[in-house]
This record gives sequence, C-alpha cells and structure tokens, in this order.
Amino acid sequence: MDNLTGTKTVLVTGGTKGIGKEIALYFLQLGYEVVINYSSDEEAALSTQSEFNMLGYCPVLLRADVSDEKQVCDMFREFFSLYDRLDVLINNAGISFYEVIQDTTLADWERVFAVNMTGAFLCCREVADKMVGAGGGCIINISSVWGEVGASCEVAYSASKAALIGFTKALSKELAPSNVRVNCVSPGVIDTSMNERFTSEEIEDLIYRIPMGRLGTGADVAKACAYLADADYVTGEVLPVGGGFAK
Ligand code: NAP
Repeated sequence: MDNLTGTKTVLVTGGTKGIGKEIALYFLQLGYEVVINYSSDEEAALSTQSEFNMLGYCPVLLRADVSDEKQVCDMFREFFSLYDRLDVLINNAGISFYEVIQDTTLADWERVFAVNMTGAFLCCREVADKMVGAGGGCIINISSVWGEVGASCEVAYSASKAALIGFTKALSKELAPSNVRVNCVSPGVIDTSMNERFTSEEIEDLIYRIPMGRLGTGADVAKACAYLADADYVTGEVLPVGGGFAK
C-alpha cells in the first residue's frame, strides 16, 4: 500500500465491535484513513471490515493484543510503514470484569489492568515521539463512568478506568507544550455485548437511573471522540457520555 499522506489518520484499538466499531465508522464517514486494531476475534474483524467495504470504505485491520509490548511495537511499526502520520489515537480496547473482591484473583486483577490501563500506556508510548515530531496530535482514552464513581462488584474494572483518567491528566500536561492533546471519554451504559450479562430487569433498572431514559450507543461515544479530535484547545479533560447518568 502507498504511504498515504495528506489525509488525516486515526487508529482505534478494539475497533471491530461495539463502541470501537462505531468510532471507526464515524471517522471513516468524516474522511479519515482508519486503522482498526483487534486482538483475538478474527471472524468479527473480517466481518466488520467487509461491512465497511460494502459501504465504500477501506479500513486497514491490524491484529495485536494491546497488553503485549512486542505486539504493540509491531503494530505501530506496521502502521508507520503504511502512513507517515497518526493524527488521532483512540485507546478503546477494554475488558470488563464482574466479581466481588473476595473472588477476584491476582491474575484477574492483573489482566484487567493489563488491557485497560497498560494497553493505553504502551500505545501512547509508541506514538508520543511521532506526534511530537509532527507538531501535534490527539489521544483519546476511553474510560468509564465507573472510573469516576466506582461500581460494586467491579472493583478491578473501576480502578483500571480511574487509573486511565489519572494517566490521561498527567500525560496531557507532559505533552501539551508539544501540541499533543490527551483527553478521556467516559461512557455511561452503552448498548454493546459488554453488558450482555445483565438481565432485562437489570437493564430496565439502569435505564430508570439514566436521566435521558435510554442506553447510550456506540455512535453517541463516537460523536464525543470526533469533537475531541477537533477541539484544538481542549486537553486533560474527561468528557462524560452517559445521558446524565451518575452525575
Ligand atoms: P466490546 O463490545 O467487548 O468490544 C471490545 C473490543 O476490544 C473488541 O474489538 C475486542 O476485539 C477488543 N479487545 C479486547 N481486548 C483487547 C486487547 N487485549 N487488545 C486489543 N483489542 C482488544 O466492548 P465495548 O462495550 O465496545 O467497550 C469498548 C470500550 O468502552 C472499553 O474500553 C470499555 O471498557 C469502555 N466502556 C464500555 C461501556 C459499555 O457500557 N459498553 C461503558 C463505559 C466504558 P477482540 O474480541 O478481537 O479481542
């Protein structure tokens, strides 16, 4: 593939399903060159790619587990062999974990942090020099409302998402003088397979607690990401996308 210059590029981690897939589609519609990362579900990745192809878009797929240092290095090496610039990095890949603390093993805890927090660290570390050298860039980390207010039986998940907020604020200060902006989007309850474990009664209860009276969609989150990608003077912020949930 040619080194495509001139068009803005975005890399979305975990972009084959759920929120990431909607973010990828939204940026394709905005005219970006879109690179979609995923880690394990090749079938879903190929199906998402062909769905986008049918709409006339040609996103690139790159497979890497964001918690694996070597795989992340290889992914960005491949990215920068295809494109000479990365305008927007969206650290969306994440896993949920639902368990009381007494039954949370150290391996469970470490896996949640490895994907949700270390993954973002590894990706940001790979792109920082490139963005600084290019005179600017935008990093968007997908946290969660649970990272802001905490959720019972989701201590590891909530803590990993809270860590991502602290990471975002610190990195935003470090990179702001180089015109690299770093922000978080903090989704509320979004209608994806991540919430499949809830019964319909539990979903009804959650909706009752959402002032806007509905679950969010991946497209709702995508619009917030597009805003942050364009908001030249916004950095170090946490943008909630939750229909007023848990405010
Ligand atoms: P999802 O439907 O489960 O999709 C997760 C995506 O991440 C998939 O594309 C998956 O690809 C990828 N992924 C998982 N582990 C990965 C890894 N180690 N390396 C690279 N990719 C990986 O999840 P979602 O609901 O869209 O959530 C997306 C993000 O939003 C997560 O960070 C989540 O914590 C956050 N969030 C979600 C909600 C919600 O209500 N859904 C609310 C707040 C925040 P493979 O299957 O191929 O691994």
